Amino acid sequence: TYILAIESSCDDTAAAVLDNDKTLSNVVARQAVHEEYGGVVPELASRAHQQNIVPVVHQALKKAGITKEDLSAVAFTSGPGLMGSLLVGTSFAKSLAMGLDIPLIDVNHMQAHILAHFIDEEGYDKPKFPFLALTISGGHTQVVQVDSYFDMTILGQTLDDAVGEAFDKSAKILGLPYPGGPLIDKYAQSGNPKAFKFTKPKVDGLDFSFSGLKTAILYFYQKEVAADPDFVEKHRDDICASIQYTIINILMDKIKKAVKQTGIRQVAIGGGVSANSGIRKALKDAEAKYGWKTFVPKFEYTTDNAAMIGIVGYLKYKDENLQDSGYVETHARAQSRLKF
Ligand code: ATP
Ligand code: FE
Repeated sequence: TYILAIESSCDDTAAAVLDNDKTLSNVVARQAVHEEYGGVVPELASRAHQQNIVPVVHQALKKAGITKEDLSAVAFTSGPGLMGSLLVGTSFAKSLAMGLDIPLIDVNHMQAHILAHFIDEEGYDKPKFPFLALTISGGHTQVVQVDSYFDMTILGQTLDDAVGEAFDKSAKILGLPYPGGPLIDKYAQSGNPKAFKFTKPKVDGLDFSFSGLKTAILYFYQKEVAADPDFVEKHRDDICASIQYTIINILMDKIKKAVKQTGIRQVAIGGGVSANSGIRKALKDAEAKYGWKTFVPKFEYTTDNAAMIGIVGYLKYKDENLQDSGYVETHARAQSRLKF
């Protein structure tokens, strides 16, 4: 079975071809136009998707060594994401599937960040059901209980900013370019995580909050820079390490709580922030310390990519479950916000 997958929910135009659960190609065109604005500009994103989609799909087919006539189905990201961006991928996928007269499979982006763990990779041990997934990305922060491919329940999520946003906004305050998450990670490696202390928010249950931390960092920055204009330059690595340390602690506190609450000790991470070295290390430590089994996706499956859409497409195709995404929202607040 060959599945072509298309992902265009935010600012990356991506296409992949899977042969069953194996990736044959995984192409991403990153959009550089947003850098000068310090964030994604939706209108520019959809225009860039329109320019990129045809060459990206061609490249994915070419790298996979197949033609579009070989395809069994087309999978695409139906949401959540930016409306104009999603529309480009959706229209393209729909017309291609219609033209080829093959099934069209809609995929939930957050479910895909989780199911990316089921892409078959040499030497990669897949999680077994049930497991907990911590989806940490630019737009979401969720703890999800995964009982099967299509039976997932959100146990907790952010009430305000996503963790990726917390990284990016902190970086912006420090004058780092967008997206700042990977840079904070880079500088943090040579800094002292306990140099500066930022208080952790108090949020009930398994929900998260990051907007208070952002404000705390802004006040800290303003106060220190008023006293010494070169403060950031002098202490960049320590500041980044301290911010990262605080954010990782917030995540780890909640996932520990989720393990306690559910009794499930398998923990998988997904989404762009799972590229972060701090969270990767914290999870490894937890394996030794608490006897958890943890799962960290291959780097290319962490930030937005189409292979993760392809694996969900394949699993749905096999299951003949072409429309029902099975991503259950039990969180009252989320229910009003997100509809899949
Ligand atoms: P969503 O998946 O919620 O719709 P998105 O698709 O825009 O959001 P991703 O591409 O999954 O988000 O993740 C992008 C985020 O990951 C950005 O906020 C980026 O800063 C962050 N990120 C990437 N690498 C790292 C890293 N090494 N450390 C910290 N953050 C990182
Ligand atoms: Fe994403």
